Amino acid sequence: MLNWDDYKKPEEVKKVQPAIQEESVQEQIVQEDKEDFMQEHVPAEAGTRAKQAKESLELLDTKEGEEELEGLSGRVQVDDKAMINCRADLNQLVPFKYDWAWQKYLDGSANHWMPQEVNMTADIALWKSNDGLTEDERMIVMRNLGFFSTADSLVANNLVLAIYRLITNPECRQYILRQSFEEAIHTHAYQYCIESLGMDEGEIFNMYREIPSVAKKASWGLKYTKEISTPGFVTGTDETDKLLLKNLIAFYCVLEGIFFYCGFTQILSMGRRNKMTGTAEQFQYILRDESMHLNFGIDMINQIKIENPHLWDEQMRQEAAQMILEGAELEIQYAKDTMPRGILGMNAGMMEEYLQFIANRRLVQIGLEQEFEGATNPFPWMSEIMDLRKEKNFFETRVIEYQTGGALTWD
Ligand code: FE
Repeated sequence: MLNWDDYKKPEEVKKVQPAIQEESVQEQIVQEDKEDFMQEHVPAEAGTRAKQAKESLELLDTKEGEEELEGLSGRVQVDDKAMINCRADLNQLVPFKYDWAWQKYLDGSANHWMPQEVNMTADIALWKSNDGLTEDERMIVMRNLGFFSTADSLVANNLVLAIYRLITNPECRQYILRQSFEEAIHTHAYQYCIESLGMDEGEIFNMYREIPSVAKKASWGLKYTKEISTPGFVTGTDETDKLLLKNLIAFYCVLEGIFFYCGFTQILSMGRRNKMTGTAEQFQYILRDESMHLNFGIDMINQIKIENPHLWDEQMRQEAAQMILEGAELEIQYAKDTMPRGILGMNAGMMEEYLQFIANRRLVQIGLEQEFEGATNPFPWMSEIMDLRKEKNFFETRVIEYQTGGALTWD
């Protein structure tokens, strides 16, 4: 298993000595340059395609592009920037307004990893042995690979087909681009596990349509992508702005913030028991990325609320709370479906309390009242793995107080 601390150590700085060139070598280079310059270089004769390209450029009407550039508001000032419905030039990354977004882009990039770096040999041997895993354990591995192999694609599609063009801030877009690539890596990681273990790919990749407890979670999320991904959809009215906000809550707070938690806990619990350690290591890397996605989403939602307080009315608050609680209920159903019996030191009841605890946290993170009074975390080791103290979000202050005020034990 990975040790999280290994990834926090400052990297050793390699001292590279500047190349000191001997004087004679430098003289030789100067002489070679002179000789090169003296030589005649005759460009090759242009063929038909190159001539056509040249002629086409001579006829190019640059007005359209120039008008587009002139239509932009000149040099962007910090105050021109806004999360949604911004008219300032989105091609100008600086000056930064949302440092938290840029910092997350840097942190995400510093966490880069690839699935092939993880050794899957022990998993392959265990998966192929007849008595290495119980039937319940095998089902957990398959169901989770079934859900996650398509879930990260749903998230990636939502980012690039729905959210990206509607978030009108370049530093947030920079993180969204990074996140989109991470989602691709996650899908790659699941595919890598499925292929390494020699599973039936058709069966696994179709679970999100064919297994009810998996399909329900997928279709719950897809509804919110559909609402805002039609090409004609634009924000700018209370109604459409709220649809975007609901999409962000659906994908960041529920899909990435709740729907991943039962499965991650199950697979990581396996890893802690020295089973499917390669798969668990892949999930651990993914979870580290996911905690950052979640925190970025919470920051975006809270920033949009600050800039557009009229959107966060009583009706919107009720709808947001209901979405999170629907998500928690779907995940509880998934827990019951994947754990008909106690397994790996956990059971569906413990998972239900964990999901209540997680749902409380999601509610509080976007400024809503918690729902499940007294729900505590039965799996404090999950919080250690995620290292909430290090991965906290920009608006976390209240939540940190909430954590220390609760029954958490990882501090
Ligand atoms: Fe994600």
